Amino acid sequence: MDRPETDFDVIIAGGGLAGGLIALRLAARRPELRVLILEAGPVLGGVHTWCCFETDLPPDIRHWIAPLLSHRWPQYEVRFPAHARSLTTPYLSIASGHFAVEVAEALGARAWTGSPVADLDHGRVVLADQRVLTARTVIDARGPAAGDALVMGWQKFLGHEVELSEPHGLTGPIVMDATVDQLDGYRFLYVLPFSDTRLLIEDTRYSDGESLDRDQIREDLTAYIRQQGWSIRDLLREEHGVLPIALGGDIDRWWRETPTAAVGLRAALFHPVTGYSLPDAARLADEVAALSELTTESVRTLVEARSKAAWNERRYFRMLNRMLFRASAPEKRYRVMERFYRLPQPLIERFYAARASLADKARILIGKPPVPIGAALASLPESSVTKRTTA
Ligand SMILES: Cc1cc2nc3c(=O)[nH]c(=O)nc-3n(C[C@H](O)[C@H](O)[C@H](O)COP(=O)(O)OP(=O)(O)OC[C@H]3O[C@@H](n4cnc5c(N)ncnc54)[C@H](O)[C@@H]3O)c2cc1C
Repeated sequence: MDRPETDFDVIIAGGGLAGGLIALRLAARRPELRVLILEAGPVLGGVHTWCCFETDLPPDIRHWIAPLLSHRWPQYEVRFPAHARSLTTPYLSIASGHFAVEVAEALGARAWTGSPVADLDHGRVVLADQRVLTARTVIDARGPAAGDALVMGWQKFLGHEVELSEPHGLTGPIVMDATVDQLDGYRFLYVLPFSDTRLLIEDTRYSDGESLDRDQIREDLTAYIRQQGWSIRDLLREEHGVLPIALGGDIDRWWRETPTAAVGLRAALFHPVTGYSLPDAARLADEVAALSELTTESVRTLVEARSKAAWNERRYFRMLNRMLFRASAPEKRYRVMERFYRLPQPLIERFYAARASLADKARILIGKPPVPIGAALASLPESSVTKRTTA
């Protein structure tokens, strides 16, 4: 009988978005490496629909990510009480089920699900069943970590994927429908049409606390579906999440308190306003696969530098978040986004790609701010923000 392998070139702890993308890029560019991915859950990738704008991704990444895509819509729309708009920026989605198949195919027998990691260090992983595995490179892709070095607001959501009895009539995603009661902060509905009769509909709130009242959101979501005149034939699945929205914090302390070669949300690599991490994770996967010397230390050095640079470059987005969260009354927060969506499409694209120019940044703020001026000014310095513990 073959003895089970215990020594690898690379072990990736966590088979979610960041870990899976690194595994895929290593399989494509460094096929000689023995890469093991360890996922605690029953499937790689969990239950997710990961999306981003096509313009969030540089052309070389668009190329290799294409086989992972489940949908590409050529346009999307937004709806606010005083303003609605259709934009021609393509919107992309990756279904975690398809992602799991691609990662499992690339790694073969070296994709282990149901394998929780109890402990890891720079060259060793201990599984919950006490088996010990070794590798020259150990990457920590176990998703968000606890800690108070960074101050967050929260984007909370609950979504239903449904099959309708009749066609819905939408021609593309509604990325924000804020023409709804503003409950628990900035509230909007997010709708992805997967076919003429199949929709993913998510009720989202930008809130101060991270607690998610699933029963209440489910009720509000059902009321929205009814208002749209959609009748549900089958509820196919439910997904929910609480995503961090960065308000401020100390990235140097975050890394001092993160001893591993962390990637993904654990490396604070996400867009401060949307909480989306797919573009950063894809870029990092390419960079890890391109490292000439691949060790835990070299990955850690790369990610820490990327994470700190991104944190510093994205200071402006955190200031906008503070205006959204701390300077405006919860029921008025939608006005910040309503006003933003009156700006030119290329500026909006650069904003979501976290590439806003100085002129863009000025343009976003110029004019009458939709928040009280005193509160807006008070929220400008990063030091104005402290952690709130209310849930
Ligand atoms: C419902 C939802 C929808 C989202 N939609 C988007 C989106 O549209 N676009 C976007 O860019 N971002 C989105 N995000 C945000 C972010 O991109 C995702 O959360 C993304 O999955 C984060 O990637 P990650 O690899 O850091 O963590 P995850 O994808 O959560 O991966 C971490 C993995 O590690 C596993 N794990 C944890 N502990 C252990 C352990 N001890 N041992 C082994 N495995 C372990 C987990 O089971 C999980 O599979 C969404 C988040 C949620 C919750």
